Amino acid sequence: MLRVSDLHVSYGRVPAVRGISVTVEPGSITLVLGANGAGKTTTLRSIAGLHPPDSGEITMQGRRIERQRADRVVAAGIVLVPEGRRVFGPLTVEENLRLGGYTRPRAGLIEELERVYDLFPVLSERRHGAAGLLSGGEQQMLAFGRALMARPKVLLIDEPSLGLAPAIVNTVLTRVREVADSGIGVLMVEQNAKVALEIADDAVVVARGEVVFSGSAQETRSHSSVVRAFLGETALRQES
Ligand code: ATP
Repeated sequence: MLRVSDLHVSYGRVPAVRGISVTVEPGSITLVLGANGAGKTTTLRSIAGLHPPDSGEITMQGRRIERQRADRVVAAGIVLVPEGRRVFGPLTVEENLRLGGYTRPRAGLIEELERVYDLFPVLSERRHGAAGLLSGGEQQMLAFGRALMARPKVLLIDEPSLGLAPAIVNTVLTRVREVADSGIGVLMVEQNAKVALEIADDAVVVARGEVVFSGSAQETRSHSSVVRAFLGETALRQES
């Protein structure tokens, strides 16, 4: 559904992504692993239309989108859940969700809200409370919910477990699996390789802007030496 082919992206004259290719299919999770600075966030931002690539192709359901503005990329069905969640703290949970649906016809908004509340009951319970008062895990659910309000076909999720307590990481990643199981394709950057490989279908490992390994999540787990080499010794030892 989403195909990224030989993507090159730079900041000024400094290359950050040097020929990354990756695909995402409906209902499946493709995990992007790599050390800090490997080019993972830049890849997601470039797909989302926030940083134009120097070269390479991005197609969504067969249509080229690599030169489209961010709002056109959302209209094509691709929505970014940014690192650090970026919920609007002073606004209520429901106001945050409504903002996520601003590109949708008003008539369908209530239906979308109910769908999100069904998926994340905790958001329903806190719907009139300030988003800033939610816990980190709840804010991550809100960031997912806000993205789902745009009815995406593909979600780009950047480091959903960042800054969360280990006990919450499992819950958050389980929710990502549920979102994918509803038919949405997911491209996810996640440092917590051990847990993320358990819920992913496929994985690519990137280093210095290039793909150094790609395969099924199962193959990636069994090539733990590859993951260790590019992510560091601790990558597969984190608590699950
Ligand atoms: P992290 O896990 O630290 O976010 P990452 O794999 O997502 O790492 P990127 O954030 O994509 O990596 O960064 C890739 C390279 O681009 C790094 O060398 C980084 O220093 C550089 N870079 C990222 N953002 C900018 C920017 N706004 N201006 C200049 N260089 C940048």
